[in-house]
Amino acid sequence: MSVQQPWAFAIARGGKSVSNQDFPAAYRGPLLIHASMRVDLKACDSPLIRAAGWDPRDPLATIGAIIAVADLDDVCSAAVRGGACDCGPWAARGRHHWHLTGVRPLPRPIVAVGRTDLWQPTPSLLNEVNTMFATASLNSAS
Ligand SMILES: [Zn+2]
Repeated sequence: MSVQQPWAFAIARGGKSVSNQDFPAAYRGPLLIHASMRVDLKACDSPLIRAAGWDPRDPLATIGAIIAVADLDDVCSAAVRGGACDCGPWAARGRHHWHLTGVRPLPRPIVAVGRTDLWQPTPSLLNEVNTMFATASLNSAS
């Protein structure tokens, strides 16, 4: 999935466990978190983003790259129907709340082209992500 910065960073580093989307998803399982080329400049000063430790100098604050992997666990659509839900401070009114768990920030961003809807990464991109995690765990074990 592609997410604008600084929201993508907040998922990767700041414990943002809900992503607000305009569409629901039938898919459940692992997702690449891709920082899209557009930046939500207004959000960079928001209290939520500050509390998430937003740091423009962090490598994962980049744009146009995969920065993390997460699992899409559940989608709450109560707010779209005007109902109340218990999705926490990151959940926006009137949106679908995609619940993300098991967030794994990448050691380094991987440049990739994204799309606005849910997209299927190429096998070579997935391979690159998996190799990076495998290398990182080898390095931390030694
Ligand atoms: Zn909700």
